[in-house]
Amino acid sequence: MTTELRTDITVEEICKGFQYSKLEGKGLFGLSGKLVIQPEYQRNYIYAEARREAGVIDSLLKGYPIGLLYFVKAGERLEVLDGQQRITSIGRFVTEKFAILGSDGHERNFSSLPADKREKILRTKLTIYVCEGTESEIKDWFRTINIAGIPLNEQELRNAIYSGPFVTAAKAEFSNSSNTRLQKWKSYVKGNEKRQEILEEALRWVGGGDIDGYMQSHRFDGDIDELKAHFDTVIDWAGTVFKGVESEMCGLDWGRLWNTYHGRAYDPDDVWKRVETLYSDDFVTAKKGIFEYVLGGGTDPKLLNVRVFDKATAKNAYSKQTSAARKKGVSNCPLCAVGHEANRTKLWAFEEMEADHVSAWSRGGATNISNCQMLCRTHNRAKGNR
Ligand SMILES: [Zn+2]
Repeated sequence: MTTELRTDITVEEICKGFQYSKLEGKGLFGLSGKLVIQPEYQRNYIYAEARREAGVIDSLLKGYPIGLLYFVKAGERLEVLDGQQRITSIGRFVTEKFAILGSDGHERNFSSLPADKREKILRTKLTIYVCEGTESEIKDWFRTINIAGIPLNEQELRNAIYSGPFVTAAKAEFSNSSNTRLQKWKSYVKGNEKRQEILEEALRWVGGGDIDGYMQSHRFDGDIDELKAHFDTVIDWAGTVFKGVESEMCGLDWGRLWNTYHGRAYDPDDVWKRVETLYSDDFVTAKKGIFEYVLGGGTDPKLLNVRVFDKATAKNAYSKQTSAARKKGVSNCPLCAVGHEANRTKLWAFEEMEADHVSAWSRGGATNISNCQMLCRTHNRAKGNR
């Protein structure tokens, strides 16, 4: 990556052709159209507090530095990487979008300032680093210079790197707080739409986990039809299979669940009955796992992290089993005892054994002493968590 320090560009040049979008509340272009003030990756203009805007103008009038600005070379154009808010404030003032309070207590817009003060502002030379490099270099750099402010998260960085019509359209759909479907989405997707976290999830789903790859190959697409359709499909599927909404449903990897299970038929009434039963089961400690457990037909209790026997119960079962086995002269592991191997008569130490549900939990077996048996580790693992 190459960087060039420019100290020759004046406020006047930056403000030439300044365009401000009142609708979007952001500066768009400057430097006779060569400077993109708000590329796709910048956050919305949030400098709007009058006091901060006036502070920038005040600094220029007093000859104070307004800090480093960072531009990135993008073909023939320059894009503002850092400093967009300051530049927008200056542009807005010079184009008479707001007034400042003069030392005489009167409000003054740009044209009503004395000529020498107008000149002072326009002749101010800004301190600008212009950077040129690969996407990953700029990404790293962007991450570094943003440490001082609110750090950008992964998706905000990606929006920077793959900026273009696709990102613009995607943000309009997925980071739009007035989108009426947002509330429904948030039952399933965790995160803040303004920090691009809903978009991130939508991209993860459609890209099968490869967000960067997907954004790269769709960067110059004029629409987001596929992204939108896939996201709606997944959300609608989740909402159809599961009739109700539980807080643990939020943040599940619905994209993966859809991939794995959407081809199966479900009876929503039956599904929800099973969900409710599991929710009221005290032995299920991972409520989050209930949904995939039910989708998979109840075959993988590991998802539920079913509460295990406590040590006292296990010790109790161990001593009963061991004394009975000793009398019979067989192994205290009931499965070893009926086998033909060398371990038929082996008495395992407590530490070498594990507690097992005689009647499987998933078939209604209780987690108490009457349903507890100790198995040697090998046999317990072989039996699995069925
Ligand atoms: Zn055994």
